[in-house]
Amino acid sequence: MNIEILEMEETRAKLLIYNAEPQTVNALRRTLIADIPKMAIEYVDFHLGPIGSGEGGRVADGASPLFDEIIAHRLGLIPIPTDLDVFRFRNECEHGPEESCELCTITYTLHKVGPCTVYSGDLEPVNGERYRPKDPLIPIVKLDEGQAIYITAYAILGTAKEHAKWQVTSGVGYQYYPIVSLDSSKCRNCDRCLEVCPKKVFEKVDGQLVVKNPENCNLCGACVKECEGVSVEGDPTKFILQYETDGSLSARETLEKALEILAQRFEDFRESISEMK
Ligand SMILES: [Zn+2]
Repeated sequence: MNIEILEMEETRAKLLIYNAEPQTVNALRRTLIADIPKMAIEYVDFHLGPIGSGEGGRVADGASPLFDEIIAHRLGLIPIPTDLDVFRFRNECEHGPEESCELCTITYTLHKVGPCTVYSGDLEPVNGERYRPKDPLIPIVKLDEGQAIYITAYAILGTAKEHAKWQVTSGVGYQYYPIVSLDSSKCRNCDRCLEVCPKKVFEKVDGQLVVKNPENCNLCGACVKECEGVSVEGDPTKFILQYETDGSLSARETLEKALEILAQRFEDFRESISEMK
């Protein structure tokens, strides 16, 4: 399997995969969806009772219009910057599953007094500025006069197999690489294929119809219905795979981790087979 990077942005990637089989590409797709670890808020402590604002000595009640469970759930879905070289799963940490340390947990505090809207950017990382959520404008709750929240939240490493909040990628999909060919002897030069194609695969160059951007084709077949001269097929050994990340990891880090996980899994499988002999 060979991978060529067609587009690589911070949170979005488009890859060309060749010399591959559908099942291998699907294994990569499933690994990207379910197996990449990331940090997400899992434990939340709510401080109840009167909370001082600090400004003018106002005292608000430690309560909000939403149930604590809903706030905890929303906090869990906020993408948390993850450094896979630093963090390990809590149950793999030396201290055991009941304790925590800086290698397995990011601690955040959140202290807001209404009236205001509480955003993801109000989470104060205790472990260091680099763990501040990259998107600061995700709304969590709106507080009215006299309401306040004072929260300590703990993010730990997990994978999407356990809960979707640990899912790094979204919109992961692949398609066969399109082979678009033109048979000029059957083409009536009606330009209908040019008009119906939603992906602008065809172009007119010096009055002659040409296949300009074959990799844009999504195999919809609209052109084939219009003209006998056009044929569109998928190459079963060549694929275009696309995905996005939620920002907790970059698209490149996600791909590297996915390939590392897959290689390890195949290695484990090979070892198990050889032990059976
Ligand atoms: Zn630890």
